[in-house]
Amino acid sequence: MSIVDKTGTVGSAPWVERDREVVWHGMTPYPASLNPMVVSRGEGPYITDEDGNRYLDAMSGLWCVNLGYSERALAEAAFEQMVQMPYYPLSHTHKPAIELGEKLNTWLGGRYRVFYSNSGSEANEAAFKIARQFHAQNGEPQRWKIISRYRAYHGSTMGALAATGQFQRKYKYEPLAPGFVHVPPPDCYRCPFGKQPGACRVECADMYEQVINWEIPETVAAVIIEPVITGGGMIVPPPEYLQRVREVCDRTGVLMIVDEVICGFGRSGKPFGFQNFGVQPDIVTMAKGITSGYLPLSATAVRAELFDVFRDTEEYAHFRHVNTFGGNPVACALAVRTLELMEERNLVERAAVLGARLRERLSVLAAHPNVGDLRHFGFLAGIELVEDKTTKTPASAAFVGQVIARCKQQGVLIGKNGDTVRNLNNVLTLCPPFVVTDEELDFIAQTVIEAISSARD
Ligand code: PMP
Repeated sequence: MSIVDKTGTVGSAPWVERDREVVWHGMTPYPASLNPMVVSRGEGPYITDEDGNRYLDAMSGLWCVNLGYSERALAEAAFEQMVQMPYYPLSHTHKPAIELGEKLNTWLGGRYRVFYSNSGSEANEAAFKIARQFHAQNGEPQRWKIISRYRAYHGSTMGALAATGQFQRKYKYEPLAPGFVHVPPPDCYRCPFGKQPGACRVECADMYEQVINWEIPETVAAVIIEPVITGGGMIVPPPEYLQRVREVCDRTGVLMIVDEVICGFGRSGKPFGFQNFGVQPDIVTMAKGITSGYLPLSATAVRAELFDVFRDTEEYAHFRHVNTFGGNPVACALAVRTLELMEERNLVERAAVLGARLRERLSVLAAHPNVGDLRHFGFLAGIELVEDKTTKTPASAAFVGQVIARCKQQGVLIGKNGDTVRNLNNVLTLCPPFVVTDEELDFIAQTVIEAISSARD
């Protein structure tokens, strides 16, 4: 069964066969449809599979490999730390955790206390617990509800999934954690309030106050919000939206948790996504780009004044939450190096420039009959495909699938996101590494444009 090809590898087929026996891939229908790429090498923004096919990865893996796949400086930083001190729990401390905390404060532009975990989901779980405990210790133990949005994604664990506003991911696993309430998303293309962009009162932001009042403010602990909804279909809010939510939080005593798992670390063209909107969150959660995806690490950064409530000698006042691997010294050292490289190479600014270029290159698609909406935020893009521009009927799954397959045939990997319940899984997503050249970015854009133009209903 193993046919050795001219590069000396055995090719993908035998590995796929073995994979089929033992590996369980999430979000993947079984049994027949699975034909995974056996990825074997990465170089800059490219990945190569076991058959020697090379692809330009316009999704940075799962929205995370911002520095590309072959950054030796990251491997060296990890190796150095690995041989010096590979593991110790954060019941004590180590230099990488401290250095990273300091660096994150600089990037956040404020004074924050940093709690480390391993994934975005866990960072959000920690944020919910911190918010609830903060209120409890502040004399308001009944503040426990968390408000999030329909269409948002905040993770796969029972609390983060409860915060998630995508029914298709949830209904087989209910009951989830109680206490999560949802408001409509700021979806200007399919406005839940029937309004037109620019001709509304930003009712989507008003909803927070309404819902908090309906729930009774004294029972609400926090809102959790991504600067833009990424995985739920690249939904970009009106410019004043986040500030309005911040004002509601201030009026009602509700904490503002901003989920920067995708938007953080330069993806938005600023160090963090919220910095585009002139707000300062109470809690910021982050993962993915913190290590450019090279190792698992996440963080929950809590405003210093909030942390003060946890400075109490009373037995149960401390944060009773621990995880074995959170803040692993190797992952922290790698994260510090990631942020240093971004600073040395001005990659946040570069991401902003690349984002503007991508917007300009894709703008011709506005006139295309199957493109309902083009949405951009920093170096992220979403292209909502429709069957009919007037009715906004979503493009069929077959049409969207053809576009993605055509891009892959041309050597470009792109993503697809949205909401399968309402047949709105019709948003193509682009999130390329910051190390792409102008020419590579133009190739990505041109490939997507041609793929949309040549796909058929
Ligand atoms: N929040 C957001 C906005 C995300 O996009 C994701 C993952 N895509 C998560 C949280 C969960 O992160 P993880 O998969 O690392 O648990």
